[in-house]
Amino acid sequence: MNFLDGKELAVIGDPIEHSLSPVIQQAMLDELGVCCTYGRILVRAGETAQWLQKAEQGKLAGFNATMPHKSDLVPLMDTLSEDARMYSSVNTVVLHDGKRHGFNTDGEGFLRSLLDEGMDPAEKTIAVLGAGGAARSVVLKLASCRAAKITVLCRTPAKANGLVHASTAIHVAGMNRTDMEKTLAQADLLVNCTPLGMDGVSARFDGFSFLDALPASAFVCDVIYRPLKTRLLAEAEQRGHHVMNGLGMLIHQAILSIEHFSGQKLDTVTMKNAIQKRLMPVLQEK
Ligand code: NAP
Repeated sequence: MNFLDGKELAVIGDPIEHSLSPVIQQAMLDELGVCCTYGRILVRAGETAQWLQKAEQGKLAGFNATMPHKSDLVPLMDTLSEDARMYSSVNTVVLHDGKRHGFNTDGEGFLRSLLDEGMDPAEKTIAVLGAGGAARSVVLKLASCRAAKITVLCRTPAKANGLVHASTAIHVAGMNRTDMEKTLAQADLLVNCTPLGMDGVSARFDGFSFLDALPASAFVCDVIYRPLKTRLLAEAEQRGHHVMNGLGMLIHQAILSIEHFSGQKLDTVTMKNAIQKRLMPVLQEK
């Protein structure tokens, strides 16, 4: 019998009502024929430890975490995966034999989505926009994959200081026209890790002429998946660049989470198909 049969899984966060995790994870659980439900739980900031103690008394076999709990979970774990330790952030917790095991699948999810598109970051020169949570997992994962140089372009460089100390391949520059054009002129890969262009976010890029600095062969990614094609990706595509949205990262990090929850290796193609069948109608509805 699968370890998850008769158990429950959930995602915690605040806000949590728009999380796509229940759709994605339930699609995989159903595909696997596991009798396990996946729910959404509103847990307020500052209440992570208190909630976790209570949750351990119930049927929960594990949970995913989103804002604002990813960092707060780190000191509450009995064990941490290498990635969770590296990013100081936990997005997947397995509760097993009275222990809390913390993982982070975001960086590996991003890497797998890149590799799916035929882009191996080894020896590449990379520009990353933003220095928040998503950028941290993307940048540190790319550095661990032997990227030649990663420049984090951000409006608050102090936030990227921790990243610079993690690897000599990581550099920081401002998110201004001069720094962006200089950095992009050398880049094989550009990754947007800011929420600029996301549905519901009013701030926008001032313009997209910075894309003109990119070499024609450069690959452009956005970790945003709502909308599926951001203005940044549309502009890059018009200029002839190969583009990728954040859907692959979202799907891969979820598959990796279910592998941790179930303790079994999954067939990625089968899982991706099961997820996309349920997820696409949700993403396409307005
Ligand atoms: P976060 O921790 O709040 O970081 C956001 C970053 O964007 C910060 O560096 C912030 O700069 C910068 N930023 C925000 N507004 C800006 C503006 N107007 N101009 C310049 N920089 C700006 O957020 P996050 O968790 O990293 O999420 C970022 C995006 O990634 C979101 O759209 C999220 O949905 C997406 N995401 C996707 C996946 C996936 O699976 N595909 C996973 C995780 C996140 P300051 O520090 O200066 O504020």
